[in-house]
Amino acid sequence: MDYFDSISEKDSVPEALNAEYLYLPGMEPDDIPSHFMEDSIQLRWQDELGNNVTTLEELQEYVDLTAEEKEKIQEVIDIHPMSISRYYLSLIDPKDPNDPIRKMAVPSVNELDVSGFYDTSGEKDNTKLPGLQHKYKNTVLLLSANVCSMYCRHCFRKRMVGLTNDEVMGRFDEAYEYIGAHPEVNNVLISGGDSLILPTRVIGHLLEKLTRLPHLDYIRFGTRMVLAYPDRILKDDELLEVFQAYSKKDRRIYLSTQFNHPNEITEQSTEAVNRIIESGVIVNNQTVLLKGVNDTPEILADLQRNLVRIGVNPYYVFQCRPVKRVKSHFQVPLAEGCRIVDEARGMLDGLSKRFRYAMSHERGKIEILGIMGDEMFFKHQQAKDPEDASRFFKRKLDESAGWLDELQEC
Ligand code: SF4
Repeated sequence: MDYFDSISEKDSVPEALNAEYLYLPGMEPDDIPSHFMEDSIQLRWQDELGNNVTTLEELQEYVDLTAEEKEKIQEVIDIHPMSISRYYLSLIDPKDPNDPIRKMAVPSVNELDVSGFYDTSGEKDNTKLPGLQHKYKNTVLLLSANVCSMYCRHCFRKRMVGLTNDEVMGRFDEAYEYIGAHPEVNNVLISGGDSLILPTRVIGHLLEKLTRLPHLDYIRFGTRMVLAYPDRILKDDELLEVFQAYSKKDRRIYLSTQFNHPNEITEQSTEAVNRIIESGVIVNNQTVLLKGVNDTPEILADLQRNLVRIGVNPYYVFQCRPVKRVKSHFQVPLAEGCRIVDEARGMLDGLSKRFRYAMSHERGKIEILGIMGDEMFFKHQQAKDPEDASRFFKRKLDESAGWLDELQEC
């Protein structure tokens, strides 16, 4: 049994977006000064998230479900909870069972397929403290929360979002000491869950501490709030003030978003991006290649082109990981992915095709370069083992393989 295989129906699923959870993500009560709590409770964006759709009964008010779906979806959400913001639901065409936004948000009977595994990039082995991973020399990853504004059905951290677990950061002070003691670390990625679920003043507290460390060149936040719940940004001027205060000309704050479909680029998400950029933060996007969502050259190209239009930098297109309850539902074979990406690139200008098509593998971040004859070519962009740094290698082409380990050496 692997590290995360123990997730089962028996695990307690906390009330989605339970208020206590929101205020204490990965932090002991004593870590948060009381005035942080009082102010946070007043924020309307949090109240609205408490109104997310989390039950089958509520869901049926928004989308048509088949008899089989009604029967099986409950089984799915007993294991991996459902939570969808009312805003994200409004992007779904309720009559279209193949709507791409619906596919990312609404549980599917396909999630009962348990092929794959939960820890696909070796996160357990890279964990140095609860919620702190150190895989690449220069980067520390903090898992700051296990709650999000929605629970994406394709999430690669499905093993933890919305579930009780001990993977979220414990005491921030310990993480801070670890980073301070590692001068080789030049950047910190605050992720989760969704890092922007943290109360604004907690975000300010993290930035205030981290920006004291002279060896950090930049700090990143991983979030899907911009597109799944733009009110997090639009209704909280204080967040933008915090970003503005800490994103300096000589040390920037970055936001890593995950726009996966052009339908996520709306008036609201565009305005949210605009306000973030105006606060001095740089926005990069990591798309996940998802079956039935963006697996055509036209949609992928349309997405990247429109991201550049609104000021978001295409950064990665990630191969969907072979995560249990995700793999069979969302993963596109590597060879097909290569062809989709190549064709999409052919439709794009220089700025919009800056992204790399890559795999976040336990051995590192591996770029999928392309196919020649009956071989596929790869290159390490980041390597866990320094001996793999920048290594170029090939594998025998296999049309059905979805992950590096399924390809034979040649
Ligand atoms: S917002 Fe991110 S962490 Fe949360 S469920 Fe979606 S992909 Fe996973």
